Amino acid sequence: AAAHGDHAAYDGLRLRDVTKEFPGGFTAVRSLDLDVPRGSFFALLGPSGCGKTTTLRMVAGLETPTSGSITLAGQDITYAKPYRRPVNTVFQSYALFPHLDIFENVAFGLRRRKTKDVDAKVREMLELVELTSQARKRPAQLSGGQQQRVALARALINNPEVLLLDEPLGALDLKLRRSMQIEVKRIQVEVGRTFVHVTHDQEEAMTMADTVAVMNGGVIEQMGAPAELYENPRSTFVANFLGQSNLIEGRVLRRAADVTTVEMHGIEVSVPSPRVHTDADAGWVGIRPEKVLVGRPGEELDAPGNTIPGGVVSDVSFVGVSTQYLVRMPWGQELQVFSQNTGRTHMFTQGESVELSWRPEYAFLLDRSQDAD
Ligand code: ATP
Repeated sequence: AAAHGDHAAYDGLRLRDVTKEFPGGFTAVRSLDLDVPRGSFFALLGPSGCGKTTTLRMVAGLETPTSGSITLAGQDITYAKPYRRPVNTVFQSYALFPHLDIFENVAFGLRRRKTKDVDAKVREMLELVELTSQARKRPAQLSGGQQQRVALARALINNPEVLLLDEPLGALDLKLRRSMQIEVKRIQVEVGRTFVHVTHDQEEAMTMADTVAVMNGGVIEQMGAPAELYENPRSTFVANFLGQSNLIEGRVLRRAADVTTVEMHGIEVSVPSPRVHTDADAGWVGIRPEKVLVGRPGEELDAPGNTIPGGVVSDVSFVGVSTQYLVRMPWGQELQVFSQNTGRTHMFTQGESVELSWRPEYAFLLDRSQDAD
């Protein structure tokens, strides 16, 4: 009864201990707990097969959980029929009616339910997705991005409590995809509805969502704001899935409330204790390539902190906005360094001796029982 009271008080989308086992015994989603605040943009991010689509389909009512509960705005919808849920889905295939014009595609659901003020509502939706001037065209006369916006307008017109987006931008080319990410985010802010977006593209999830849940093997590995996940990953999986990271073998020497001291191939470095995610002594010291500074040996770097001497540049790639170095360390490992090209930075060449350094606040420490890659 206490649990029920909790659900009734929560106005967002809530999954509790949701498991989905498919016939044959494969568990696609395992004891999932999830709170999606009302009006937020939430992304389920993970590699193929991690269970994100299955999770979305359970919210839509297209799959039934094996156990657990799903509530929306205090209502238990775990076993509700799909059409009885205040939920709509936008798929990668736009599923527009080819013989109807854009206006009628958007109006379709309202006309079937004999809703009042159809014209005004459709005009409002077309304005929202900036397709007012295309109203009398057929879907085939629009670009992929425009068709996807029609699909969005059609899904939003009956004011769903939650809009589910299943890889909706997957069919678009990269450039269009990037502009649609910003566009869909703008629409979400404007309508103020809850959006749950499924993607395997980390940049897409980070660009669009307020909160990202990283899924792996049917469970959520970590959930939080994009910057929080990127800056403070709790597992090697999250660290590697959200961009690149250097992971260096380390051993904890001292733990204090604010700073943990770690020995790394004979060098002592500090890691902020809130970024230490292992109780064991053996760990991976993690540092993002763009957080590493490269300098001449003995040079005063403008980011005093952890300094690692004895590196030799083994590869240099100039990529315009930055220069990417591989630096071979005395213990044999190659570390990645992304150096912003500000016009004032010295370019190092292959074979040059260098020293690496980073501010202690950027490092994190992960459990070494996990693989580094
Ligand atoms: P993708 O991005 O490839 O769709 P995903 O993270 O969305 O991946 P799901 O589609 O949720 O993954 O699938 C999770 C796992 O469950 C996969 O291994 C898949 O093969 C399995 N699965 C999905 N649907 C069924 C089904 N109807 N019967 C049996 N197994 C299924």
